[in-house]
Amino acid sequence: MKTFEFSNLHMVIEWFIKLRWIACAGVFLTLLVFSTLIGINLPYKVLFSANFILACANFSYYLYLMKIKRKVLTDREKKSFLHIQIISDYIILLTLVYFTGYLENPLIFYLIFHIMLTSFLFSEKKLIIYTALTVFIIIGIALLQLKKILPYYPLSPQGDSCGYFDRILIRTGGITSVLIISAYLISSIKDRIDYKGKLCEVELNRYKSLDKVKSNFILQVTHELRGPLAAVMGYHEILLKGLTGEISPKSKDILIKANRRTDNLLTMIGEMIDFAYMKSEKEILCEEKRLSMHDLISENISLIRDPAQKKGIDITFNCSKNITVHANRDLMNMILGNLLTNSVKYSKRGGSVSLACSVKKDEILLIVSDEGIGIKDDELEKIFEEFYRTRTARSLEKDGTGLGLAIVQRAVNSLHGRIQVFSQLNKGTEFHIYLPLMEKHKEAADGRKIDIDN
Ligand code: ADP
Repeated sequence: MKTFEFSNLHMVIEWFIKLRWIACAGVFLTLLVFSTLIGINLPYKVLFSANFILACANFSYYLYLMKIKRKVLTDREKKSFLHIQIISDYIILLTLVYFTGYLENPLIFYLIFHIMLTSFLFSEKKLIIYTALTVFIIIGIALLQLKKILPYYPLSPQGDSCGYFDRILIRTGGITSVLIISAYLISSIKDRIDYKGKLCEVELNRYKSLDKVKSNFILQVTHELRGPLAAVMGYHEILLKGLTGEISPKSKDILIKANRRTDNLLTMIGEMIDFAYMKSEKEILCEEKRLSMHDLISENISLIRDPAQKKGIDITFNCSKNITVHANRDLMNMILGNLLTNSVKYSKRGGSVSLACSVKKDEILLIVSDEGIGIKDDELEKIFEEFYRTRTARSLEKDGTGLGLAIVQRAVNSLHGRIQVFSQLNKGTEFHIYLPLMEKHKEAADGRKIDIDN
Protein backbone atom coordinates (compact mmCIF):
# COMPACT_ATOMS: atom_id res chain seq x y z
CA MET A 1 0.00 0.00 0.00
CA LYS A 2 1.32 3.46 -0.85
CA THR A 3 1.55 5.76 2.14
CA PHE A 4 1.18 9.50 2.24
CA GLU A 5 4.13 11.51 1.04
CA PHE A 6 5.49 13.46 3.97
CA SER A 7 6.82 16.33 1.87
CA ASN A 8 3.62 18.37 2.29
CA LEU A 9 3.30 17.61 5.98
CA HIS A 10 2.62 21.25 6.79
CA MET A 11 -0.49 21.26 4.66
CA VAL A 12 -1.77 18.06 6.29
CA ILE A 13 -1.17 19.36 9.81
CA GLU A 14 -2.76 22.72 9.03
CA TRP A 15 -5.78 20.79 7.76
CA PHE A 16 -5.85 18.69 10.97
CA ILE A 17 -5.66 21.81 13.11
CA LYS A 18 -8.49 23.46 11.21
CA LEU A 19 -10.69 20.37 11.62
CA ARG A 20 -9.88 20.22 15.33
CA TRP A 21 -10.96 23.87 15.87
CA ILE A 22 -14.26 23.08 14.14
CA ALA A 23 -14.66 19.97 16.31
CA CYS A 24 -13.85 21.95 19.51
CA ALA A 25 -16.39 24.63 18.68
CA GLY A 26 -19.02 22.01 17.74
CA VAL A 27 -18.52 20.04 20.96
CA PHE A 28 -18.56 23.21 23.07
CA LEU A 29 -21.84 24.40 21.57
CA THR A 30 -23.44 20.96 21.83
CA LEU A 31 -22.45 20.63 25.48
CA LEU A 32 -23.81 24.12 26.16
CA VAL A 33 -27.16 23.25 24.53
CA PHE A 34 -27.31 19.89 26.34
CA SER A 35 -26.54 21.37 29.73
CA THR A 36 -28.74 24.43 29.52
CA LEU A 37 -31.59 23.92 27.03
CA ILE A 38 -32.16 20.14 27.04
CA GLY A 39 -30.94 19.54 30.55
CA ILE A 40 -29.61 16.00 30.26
CA ASN A 41 -27.73 14.76 33.26
CA LEU A 42 -24.14 14.23 32.03
CA PRO A 43 -20.70 14.67 33.67
CA TYR A 44 -20.28 18.10 32.12
CA LYS A 45 -17.14 18.93 34.10
CA VAL A 46 -15.33 15.98 32.55
CA LEU A 47 -16.73 16.74 29.09
CA PHE A 48 -15.87 20.45 29.12
CA SER A 49 -12.42 19.56 30.48
CA ALA A 50 -11.85 17.03 27.68
CA ASN A 51 -12.87 19.66 25.16
CA PHE A 52 -10.58 22.19 26.81
CA ILE A 53 -7.68 19.68 26.65
CA LEU A 54 -8.44 19.16 22.95
CA ALA A 55 -8.28 22.94 22.39
CA CYS A 56 -5.01 23.23 24.35
CA ALA A 57 -3.48 20.30 22.46
CA ASN A 58 -4.54 21.85 19.17
CA PHE A 59 -3.03 25.18 20.15
CA SER A 60 0.28 23.48 21.06
CA TYR A 61 0.25 21.64 17.69
CA TYR A 62 -0.31 25.00 16.02
CA LEU A 63 2.66 26.53 17.89
CA TYR A 64 4.82 23.53 17.00
CA LEU A 65 3.78 23.84 13.36
CA MET A 66 4.84 27.48 13.34
CA LYS A 67 8.19 26.42 14.83
CA ILE A 68 8.87 23.65 12.31
CA LYS A 69 7.81 25.69 9.29
CA ARG A 70 11.35 26.84 8.79
CA LYS A 71 12.96 23.58 9.92
CA VAL A 72 13.57 20.37 7.99
CA LEU A 73 12.26 17.44 10.02
CA THR A 74 13.44 13.87 9.55
CA ASP A 75 10.85 11.34 8.40
CA ARG A 76 10.92 9.82 11.87
CA GLU A 77 10.14 13.18 13.53
CA LYS A 78 7.34 13.83 11.05
CA LYS A 79 5.79 10.43 11.68
CA SER A 80 6.08 10.82 15.46
CA PHE A 81 4.33 14.20 15.29
CA LEU A 82 1.47 12.72 13.29
CA HIS A 83 1.21 9.70 15.62
CA ILE A 84 0.98 12.00 18.68
CA GLN A 85 -1.87 13.95 17.08
CA ILE A 86 -3.81 10.88 15.98
CA ILE A 87 -3.44 9.13 19.35
CA SER A 88 -4.45 12.23 21.33
CA ASP A 89 -7.48 12.70 19.05
CA TYR A 90 -8.43 9.05 19.61
CA ILE A 91 -8.21 9.40 23.39
CA ILE A 92 -10.22 12.63 23.53
CA LEU A 93 -12.90 11.37 21.16
CA LEU A 94 -13.25 8.12 23.13
CA THR A 95 -13.48 10.11 26.39
CA LEU A 96 -16.18 12.40 25.01
CA VAL A 97 -18.15 9.49 23.58
CA TYR A 98 -17.70 7.34 26.70
CA PHE A 99 -19.28 9.98 28.96
CA THR A 100 -22.15 10.66 26.54
CA GLY A 101 -23.86 7.33 26.00
CA TYR A 102 -20.87 5.50 24.48
CA LEU A 103 -22.12 3.15 21.70
CA GLU A 104 -25.48 4.88 21.79
CA ASN A 105 -23.78 8.14 20.73
CA PRO A 106 -23.71 8.58 16.91
CA LEU A 107 -20.43 10.51 17.30
CA ILE A 108 -18.68 7.15 17.78
CA PHE A 109 -18.71 6.94 13.97
CA TYR A 110 -16.07 9.69 13.95
CA LEU A 111 -13.59 6.92 14.74
CA ILE A 112 -14.02 5.86 11.10
CA PHE A 113 -12.41 9.14 10.04
CA HIS A 114 -9.42 8.45 12.24
CA ILE A 115 -9.04 5.06 10.58
CA MET A 116 -9.36 6.74 7.15
CA LEU A 117 -6.71 9.32 7.99
CA THR A 118 -4.41 6.63 9.36
CA SER A 119 -4.74 4.74 6.09
CA PHE A 120 -3.70 7.87 4.15
CA LEU A 121 -0.78 8.70 6.38
CA PHE A 122 0.79 5.43 7.38
CA SER A 123 1.69 2.00 6.11
CA GLU A 124 -0.72 -0.93 5.94
CA LYS A 125 0.91 -2.44 9.04
CA LYS A 126 0.27 0.69 11.13
CA LEU A 127 -3.31 0.87 9.84
CA ILE A 128 -3.92 -2.73 10.96
CA ILE A 129 -2.44 -1.95 14.40
CA TYR A 130 -4.61 1.19 14.80
CA THR A 131 -7.75 -0.60 13.62
CA ALA A 132 -7.13 -3.64 15.85
CA LEU A 133 -6.50 -1.39 18.86
CA THR A 134 -9.66 0.62 18.18
CA VAL A 135 -11.79 -2.53 17.91
CA PHE A 136 -10.14 -3.96 21.04
CA ILE A 137 -10.77 -0.78 23.07
CA ILE A 138 -14.38 -0.39 21.85
CA ILE A 139 -15.29 -3.99 22.65
CA GLY A 140 -13.30 -3.90 25.91
CA ILE A 141 -15.11 -0.81 27.24
CA ALA A 142 -18.49 -2.24 26.15
CA LEU A 143 -17.78 -5.52 28.01
CA LEU A 144 -16.60 -3.68 31.12
CA GLN A 145 -19.82 -1.64 31.06
CA LEU A 146 -21.84 -4.83 30.58
CA LYS A 147 -20.14 -6.39 33.60
CA LYS A 148 -20.87 -3.11 35.44
CA ILE A 149 -17.14 -2.63 36.13
CA LEU A 150 -17.25 0.71 34.29
CA PRO A 151 -20.25 3.03 34.73
CA TYR A 152 -22.59 3.76 31.84
CA TYR A 153 -23.57 7.39 31.16
CA PRO A 154 -26.81 7.32 29.17
CA LEU A 155 -27.14 10.05 26.58
CA SER A 156 -30.94 10.06 26.67
CA PRO A 157 -32.14 8.61 29.99
CA GLN A 158 -35.67 7.29 30.15
CA GLY A 159 -38.05 9.10 32.37
CA ASP A 160 -39.08 12.64 32.98
CA SER A 161 -35.69 14.30 32.51
CA CYS A 162 -35.63 13.57 28.81
CA GLY A 163 -38.73 13.15 26.73
CA TYR A 164 -39.27 11.28 23.44
CA PHE A 165 -38.89 14.51 21.46
CA ASP A 166 -35.54 15.29 23.13
CA ARG A 167 -34.17 11.80 22.39
CA ILE A 168 -35.12 12.11 18.73
CA LEU A 169 -33.59 15.60 18.64
CA ILE A 170 -30.29 14.36 20.12
CA ARG A 171 -29.99 11.44 17.69
CA THR A 172 -30.98 13.54 14.69
CA GLY A 173 -28.45 16.20 15.70
CA GLY A 174 -25.70 13.59 16.17
CA ILE A 175 -26.36 11.84 12.87
CA THR A 176 -26.67 15.15 11.00
CA SER A 177 -23.32 16.31 12.34
CA VAL A 178 -21.72 12.96 11.36
CA LEU A 179 -23.16 13.33 7.84
CA ILE A 180 -22.05 16.94 7.44
CA ILE A 181 -18.55 16.25 8.70
CA SER A 182 -18.32 13.11 6.47
CA ALA A 183 -19.29 15.15 3.42
CA TYR A 184 -16.75 17.82 4.34
CA LEU A 185 -13.96 15.29 4.99
CA ILE A 186 -14.65 13.29 1.86
CA SER A 187 -14.74 16.39 -0.33
CA SER A 188 -11.51 17.68 1.29
CA ILE A 189 -9.82 14.33 0.69
CA LYS A 190 -11.11 14.31 -2.89
CA ASP A 191 -9.71 17.84 -3.44
CA ARG A 192 -6.40 16.69 -2.05
CA ILE A 193 -6.36 13.63 -4.34
CA ASP A 194 -7.28 15.81 -7.36
CA TYR A 195 -4.53 18.23 -6.43
CA LYS A 196 -2.03 15.35 -6.14
CA GLY A 197 -3.25 14.00 -9.50
CA LYS A 198 -2.60 17.39 -11.11
CA LEU A 199 0.86 17.57 -9.53
CA CYS A 200 1.60 14.08 -10.88
CA GLU A 201 0.45 15.14 -14.34
CA VAL A 202 2.73 18.19 -14.26
CA GLU A 203 5.63 16.03 -13.05
CA LEU A 204 4.93 13.43 -15.74
CA ASN A 205 4.93 16.07 -18.48
CA ARG A 206 8.14 17.55 -17.09
CA TYR A 207 9.69 14.08 -17.02
CA LYS A 208 8.52 13.41 -20.58
CA SER A 209 10.06 16.60 -21.90
CA LEU A 210 13.31 15.94 -20.02
CA ASP A 211 13.35 12.42 -21.42
CA LYS A 212 12.90 13.86 -24.90
CA VAL A 213 15.78 16.28 -24.36
CA LYS A 214 17.92 13.36 -23.15
CA SER A 215 16.98 11.24 -26.17
CA ASN A 216 17.79 14.08 -28.54
CA PHE A 217 21.12 14.56 -26.80
CA ILE A 218 21.93 10.82 -27.12
CA LEU A 219 20.85 10.96 -30.73
CA GLN A 220 23.17 13.86 -31.47
CA VAL A 221 26.15 12.42 -29.59
CA THR A 222 25.80 8.93 -31.05
CA HIS A 223 25.45 10.37 -34.55
CA GLU A 224 28.68 12.30 -33.99
CA LEU A 225 30.42 9.17 -32.75
CA ARG A 226 29.28 6.94 -35.59
CA GLY A 227 31.06 8.89 -38.34
CA PRO A 228 34.61 8.79 -36.90
CA LEU A 229 34.16 5.16 -35.83
CA ALA A 230 33.08 4.13 -39.31
CA ALA A 231 36.15 5.98 -40.63
CA VAL A 232 38.39 4.06 -38.18
CA MET A 233 36.92 0.80 -39.47
CA GLY A 234 37.60 1.94 -43.03
CA TYR A 235 41.26 2.68 -42.16
CA HIS A 236 41.60 -0.76 -40.54
CA GLU A 237 40.29 -2.35 -43.71
CA ILE A 238 42.73 -0.39 -45.88
CA LEU A 239 45.58 -1.66 -43.70
CA LEU A 240 44.21 -5.22 -43.64
CA LYS A 241 43.88 -5.35 -47.41
CA GLY A 242 47.57 -4.40 -47.64
CA LEU A 243 46.82 -1.24 -49.65
CA THR A 244 49.51 0.63 -47.72
CA GLY A 245 52.04 -2.17 -47.95
CA GLU A 246 52.69 -5.58 -46.39
CA ILE A 247 51.86 -5.97 -42.69
CA SER A 248 53.23 -8.60 -40.34
CA PRO A 249 50.94 -11.50 -39.25
CA LYS A 250 51.07 -10.17 -35.66
CA SER A 251 49.94 -6.69 -36.74
CA LYS A 252 47.25 -8.27 -38.89
CA ASP A 253 45.96 -10.21 -35.90
CA ILE A 254 45.81 -7.05 -33.77
CA LEU A 255 44.09 -5.16 -36.58
CA ILE A 256 41.45 -7.88 -36.96
CA LYS A 257 40.74 -7.70 -33.21
CA ALA A 258 40.59 -3.90 -33.33
CA ASN A 259 38.21 -4.10 -36.26
CA ARG A 260 35.94 -6.56 -34.43
CA ARG A 261 35.76 -4.32 -31.35
CA THR A 262 35.04 -1.26 -33.49
CA ASP A 263 32.30 -3.20 -35.25
CA ASN A 264 30.76 -4.12 -31.86
CA LEU A 265 30.94 -0.50 -30.80
CA LEU A 266 29.22 0.57 -34.02
CA THR A 267 26.43 -1.98 -33.41
CA MET A 268 25.94 -0.63 -29.91
CA ILE A 269 25.89 2.95 -31.17
CA GLY A 270 23.40 1.88 -33.83
CA GLU A 271 21.09 0.48 -31.12
CA MET A 272 21.39 3.65 -29.08
CA ILE A 273 20.56 5.74 -32.13
CA ASP A 274 17.50 3.59 -32.87
CA PHE A 275 16.37 3.84 -29.28
CA ALA A 276 16.83 7.60 -29.05
CA TYR A 277 15.22 7.95 -32.45
CA MET A 278 12.11 6.10 -31.31
CA LYS A 279 11.88 8.09 -28.09
CA SER A 280 12.21 11.42 -29.82
CA GLU A 281 9.07 10.47 -31.82
CA LYS A 282 10.48 11.42 -35.19
CA GLU A 283 7.75 12.02 -37.70
CA ILE A 284 9.68 10.01 -40.21
CA LEU A 285 8.79 6.85 -38.27
CA CYS A 286 5.12 7.54 -39.00
CA GLU A 287 5.55 7.22 -42.76
CA GLU A 288 3.99 3.89 -43.63
CA LYS A 289 4.12 1.91 -46.84
CA ARG A 290 3.01 -1.45 -48.02
CA LEU A 291 6.02 -3.73 -47.65
CA SER A 292 6.66 -7.30 -48.66
CA MET A 293 7.40 -9.42 -45.61
CA HIS A 294 9.42 -11.82 -47.75
CA ASP A 295 11.72 -9.03 -48.93
CA LEU A 296 12.08 -7.47 -45.48
CA ILE A 297 13.05 -10.83 -43.98
CA SER A 298 15.56 -11.74 -46.70
CA GLU A 299 17.18 -8.27 -46.52
CA ASN A 300 17.64 -8.58 -42.78
CA ILE A 301 18.92 -12.15 -43.04
CA SER A 302 21.53 -11.07 -45.56
CA LEU A 303 22.81 -8.48 -43.05
CA ILE A 304 23.30 -11.10 -40.33
CA ARG A 305 24.58 -13.91 -42.57
CA ASP A 306 28.29 -13.18 -41.98
CA PRO A 307 28.31 -13.33 -38.17
CA ALA A 308 25.96 -16.34 -38.36
CA GLN A 309 28.29 -18.19 -40.71
CA LYS A 310 31.24 -17.48 -38.42
CA LYS A 311 29.36 -19.31 -35.63
CA GLY A 312 28.22 -22.07 -37.99
CA ILE A 313 24.59 -21.06 -37.49
CA ASP A 314 22.10 -21.99 -40.14
CA ILE A 315 19.31 -19.46 -40.82
CA THR A 316 16.16 -20.63 -42.59
CA PHE A 317 12.96 -18.81 -43.35
CA ASN A 318 9.53 -19.53 -44.60
CA CYS A 319 7.36 -16.70 -45.86
CA SER A 320 4.93 -16.48 -48.74
CA LYS A 321 5.80 -13.73 -51.23
CA ASN A 322 2.22 -12.48 -51.06
CA ILE A 323 2.26 -11.39 -47.45
CA THR A 324 2.53 -7.64 -47.13
CA VAL A 325 2.45 -5.36 -44.16
CA HIS A 326 1.40 -1.74 -44.07
CA ALA A 327 4.15 -0.33 -41.88
CA ASN A 328 7.14 1.91 -41.55
CA ARG A 329 10.24 0.34 -43.11
CA ASP A 330 12.62 1.56 -40.38
CA LEU A 331 10.41 0.15 -37.65
CA MET A 332 10.14 -3.22 -39.43
CA ASN A 333 13.92 -3.33 -39.85
CA MET A 334 14.38 -2.51 -36.17
CA ILE A 335 12.11 -5.44 -35.23
CA LEU A 336 13.62 -7.98 -37.62
CA GLY A 337 17.20 -6.78 -37.20
CA ASN A 338 17.18 -6.89 -33.40
CA LEU A 339 15.38 -10.24 -33.14
CA LEU A 340 17.66 -11.85 -35.70
CA THR A 341 20.81 -10.41 -34.14
CA ASN A 342 19.76 -11.71 -30.73
CA SER A 343 18.94 -15.18 -32.08
CA VAL A 344 22.41 -15.46 -33.60
CA LYS A 345 24.13 -13.77 -30.64
CA TYR A 346 22.49 -16.04 -28.05
CA SER A 347 22.84 -19.29 -30.03
CA LYS A 348 25.65 -21.73 -29.43
CA ARG A 349 28.02 -22.72 -32.25
CA GLY A 350 26.37 -24.87 -34.89
CA GLY A 351 22.84 -23.92 -33.81
CA SER A 352 19.98 -22.95 -36.06
CA VAL A 353 17.69 -19.95 -36.35
CA SER A 354 14.42 -19.92 -38.20
CA LEU A 355 11.88 -17.32 -39.26
CA ALA A 356 8.32 -18.01 -40.27
CA CYS A 357 5.70 -15.57 -41.42
CA SER A 358 2.03 -16.39 -41.91
CA VAL A 359 -1.39 -14.80 -41.82
CA LYS A 360 -3.63 -15.64 -38.86
CA LYS A 361 -7.15 -14.19 -39.12
CA ASP A 362 -6.61 -10.41 -39.19
CA GLU A 363 -3.00 -10.50 -38.22
CA ILE A 364 0.41 -11.27 -39.60
CA LEU A 365 2.29 -13.65 -37.34
CA LEU A 366 6.07 -13.50 -37.46
CA ILE A 367 7.96 -16.16 -35.51
CA VAL A 368 11.68 -15.87 -34.86
CA SER A 369 13.06 -18.94 -33.09
CA ASP A 370 16.44 -20.25 -32.07
CA GLU A 371 17.95 -23.18 -30.19
CA GLY A 372 20.13 -20.95 -28.02
CA ILE A 373 20.76 -20.34 -24.35
CA GLY A 374 17.12 -19.55 -23.53
CA ILE A 375 15.78 -17.32 -20.78
CA LYS A 376 14.75 -18.19 -17.22
CA ASP A 377 11.02 -17.87 -16.48
CA ASP A 378 11.50 -15.15 -13.87
CA GLU A 379 13.55 -13.06 -16.30
CA LEU A 380 11.13 -13.27 -19.22
CA GLU A 381 9.12 -10.21 -18.19
CA LYS A 382 12.20 -8.09 -17.64
CA ILE A 383 13.92 -8.60 -20.98
CA PHE A 384 11.87 -5.82 -22.59
CA GLU A 385 13.00 -3.30 -19.99
CA GLU A 386 15.58 -0.74 -21.09
CA PHE A 387 19.18 -1.83 -20.36
CA TYR A 388 18.15 -5.20 -18.89
CA ARG A 389 20.38 -8.16 -19.75
CA THR A 390 19.99 -11.66 -18.29
CA ARG A 391 22.85 -13.09 -16.24
CA THR A 392 23.36 -15.95 -18.72
CA ALA A 393 23.50 -13.52 -21.63
CA ARG A 394 26.02 -11.31 -19.87
CA SER A 395 28.32 -14.26 -19.22
CA LEU A 396 28.05 -15.47 -22.84
CA GLU A 397 28.18 -12.13 -24.65
CA LYS A 398 30.00 -9.21 -23.10
CA ASP A 399 28.78 -6.77 -25.75
CA GLY A 400 25.21 -5.62 -25.54
CA THR A 401 23.27 -2.58 -24.47
CA GLY A 402 20.06 -4.22 -23.30
CA LEU A 403 18.21 -1.84 -25.61
CA GLY A 404 17.43 -4.16 -28.53
CA LEU A 405 14.21 -5.64 -27.16
CA ALA A 406 13.07 -2.31 -25.72
CA ILE A 407 13.37 -0.99 -29.29
CA VAL A 408 11.50 -4.02 -30.65
CA GLN A 409 8.66 -3.56 -28.18
CA ARG A 410 8.33 0.14 -28.93
CA ALA A 411 8.40 -0.53 -32.66
CA VAL A 412 5.73 -3.25 -32.34
CA ASN A 413 3.57 -0.95 -30.22
CA SER A 414 3.94 1.86 -32.76
CA LEU A 415 2.67 -0.53 -35.41
CA HIS A 416 -0.30 -1.48 -33.18
CA GLY A 417 0.99 -5.01 -32.85
CA ARG A 418 1.86 -7.23 -29.90
CA ILE A 419 4.75 -9.41 -28.94
CA GLN A 420 5.01 -12.72 -27.08
CA VAL A 421 8.04 -14.66 -25.97
CA PHE A 422 8.39 -18.35 -25.15
CA SER A 423 11.64 -19.72 -23.85
CA GLN A 424 13.23 -22.68 -22.13
CA LEU A 425 16.62 -22.42 -20.52
CA ASN A 426 19.30 -24.10 -22.66
CA LYS A 427 16.67 -25.20 -25.22
CA GLY A 428 15.88 -22.03 -27.11
CA THR A 429 13.67 -18.97 -27.49
CA GLU A 430 10.77 -18.07 -29.72
CA PHE A 431 9.46 -14.54 -30.30
CA HIS A 432 5.95 -14.17 -31.77
CA ILE A 433 5.13 -10.81 -33.32
CA TYR A 434 1.54 -10.10 -34.31
CA LEU A 435 0.99 -7.17 -36.66
CA PRO A 436 -2.38 -5.97 -37.92
CA LEU A 437 -3.28 -7.04 -41.43
CA MET A 438 -5.34 -4.33 -43.08
CA GLU A 439 -8.31 -5.24 -45.24
CA LYS A 440 -6.58 -4.31 -48.53
CA HIS A 441 -3.63 -6.46 -47.58
CA LYS A 442 -5.79 -9.48 -47.08
CA GLU A 443 -6.25 -9.47 -50.84
CA ALA A 444 -2.51 -9.75 -51.23
CA ALA A 445 -2.38 -12.59 -48.77
CA ASP A 446 -5.15 -14.31 -50.77
CA GLY A 447 -2.90 -14.20 -53.85
CA ARG A 448 -4.36 -11.27 -55.79
CA LYS A 449 -1.94 -8.91 -57.49
CA ILE A 450 -0.96 -5.72 -55.67
CA ASP A 451 1.77 -3.11 -56.02
CA ILE A 452 4.46 -3.50 -53.45
CA ASP A 453 6.87 -0.82 -52.38
CA ASN A 454 10.47 -1.86 -52.52
P1 ADP B 1 21.23 -7.07 -25.64
O1 ADP B 1 21.94 -5.90 -26.16
O2 ADP B 1 21.74 -7.53 -24.32
O3 ADP B 1 21.11 -8.19 -26.61
P2 ADP B 1 18.35 -6.91 -25.85
O4 ADP B 1 17.44 -5.84 -25.38
O5 ADP B 1 18.36 -7.20 -27.29
O6 ADP B 1 19.77 -6.53 -25.31
O7 ADP B 1 17.95 -8.21 -25.08
C1 ADP B 1 17.73 -8.14 -23.68
C2 ADP B 1 18.11 -9.46 -23.05
O8 ADP B 1 17.16 -10.46 -23.43
C3 ADP B 1 19.44 -10.00 -23.54
O9 ADP B 1 20.49 -9.46 -22.80
C4 ADP B 1 19.26 -11.46 -23.28
O10 ADP B 1 19.50 -11.74 -21.93
C5 ADP B 1 17.79 -11.70 -23.55
N1 ADP B 1 17.54 -12.23 -24.91
C6 ADP B 1 17.09 -11.55 -25.97
N2 ADP B 1 16.96 -12.33 -27.04
C7 ADP B 1 17.35 -13.57 -26.65
C8 ADP B 1 17.45 -14.84 -27.30
N3 ADP B 1 17.08 -14.99 -28.57
N4 ADP B 1 17.86 -15.88 -26.57
C9 ADP B 1 18.20 -15.73 -25.27
N5 ADP B 1 18.13 -14.57 -24.60
C10 ADP B 1 17.72 -13.50 -25.28
